[in-house]
Amino acid sequence: MKNRKLLMIPGPVEFTPEVLRAMGMPTTSHVAPNFIEVFGQALERLRQVFLCSNGQPFILSGTGTLAMDTAAANLVEPGDHALVVNTGYFSDRFASILERYGAQVTQVGAPVVGDAPSVESVEAALKAGSYKLVTLTHVDTSTAVGISGLAGLAALARQAGALVLVDGVCSVAGEELRMDEWGVDLALTASQKAIGVPPGLALVMAGPRAMEAFRRRRSPVGSYYSDWSYWLPVMQAYEARKPSYFGTPPVNLIWALNVSLGQILEEGMDARFARHRKLSQALKAAVHALGLAQVPVRADVTAATLTAPYYPGGVDASLLSHIGAAGVIVAGGLHPQIKDRYFRVGHMGAVTPSDILTTVGAIEQGLARAGYRFELGSGLAAAQRTLAA
Ligand code: PMP
Repeated sequence: MKNRKLLMIPGPVEFTPEVLRAMGMPTTSHVAPNFIEVFGQALERLRQVFLCSNGQPFILSGTGTLAMDTAAANLVEPGDHALVVNTGYFSDRFASILERYGAQVTQVGAPVVGDAPSVESVEAALKAGSYKLVTLTHVDTSTAVGISGLAGLAALARQAGALVLVDGVCSVAGEELRMDEWGVDLALTASQKAIGVPPGLALVMAGPRAMEAFRRRRSPVGSYYSDWSYWLPVMQAYEARKPSYFGTPPVNLIWALNVSLGQILEEGMDARFARHRKLSQALKAAVHALGLAQVPVRADVTAATLTAPYYPGGVDASLLSHIGAAGVIVAGGLHPQIKDRYFRVGHMGAVTPSDILTTVGAIEQGLARAGYRFELGSGLAAAQRTLAA
């Protein structure tokens, strides 16, 4: 019997065999000609994945939080005003990071957990103040709330003269994000989600306006490691296929990144966004058919990269181990206000229709073991109908 379970949490996710093979290769020197080529290619491919033709990519050893930290460290000067469009736990984190670098942070929040702030409330906040930057969490992984009107909010923020920063940790390469077209000045992510590479890379794409704001800084960057003054020449050198050094790059992770980016671009960004949407709809249809409510309060605040169902009446977090016993790992709740009332299923990266069906099957088995009464197979049937449509 296979004893490996299917990993369906919102990162890390299941990785392709090609990506995992790159992780296991003999490590080369970070200035070996073949690695320089791989690093250079990965930087070029990132522009295509972020749909940001003139962006400056940064590939750093670290996690998504480092990517957020880097963005704040390089763009915030003490006293700058920032507006955080808050959709949950990770928006709170962005606010804390901005404050750490001296920003005066104003937040515009959602009326309830599971909702996103209205366009009108963001517009009103933009009118009431003057902000150097606005942050948006494209998909808040704690609530599965996705901002579907991101392009419109970005346009409003830009009209108000602010830089638009997007936390795309749970979105880039899964949820539709078009930096050029939507006027996003900086987007960031981490390797372990829709990018499809084991944890360990912080990825930042800074557009021309963000780089200009960085160049115009008057005060030094408050973090030594994050300072783009050190990393920019390194990224530029590798892209020009020249050796460079500031901190030793994570050679195998970058090798794996380049493999994954190649696979992403081979699929094509439009096809990839569509696949994520369809698989997400199939899982959400199954959850609905099983009689489980979801944290996002409406379809227009629903992410394509994860699903957050509430436990049904009489069922608690022990459901997770029942689902695990049926072969699929899902994640518990994260938002402090509702943590014990819901669970999360990630579906991003190399996820397939059969992964969705396996997951729905395991959720049904888990619910049955937890004593929940429902018609076995009703979730699977709903998922199948969506997948076949
Ligand atoms: N932002 C979002 C939206 C996230 O989902 C996460 C991780 N779940 C982070 C930031 C932080 O990323 P990391 O855990 O890699 O530091």
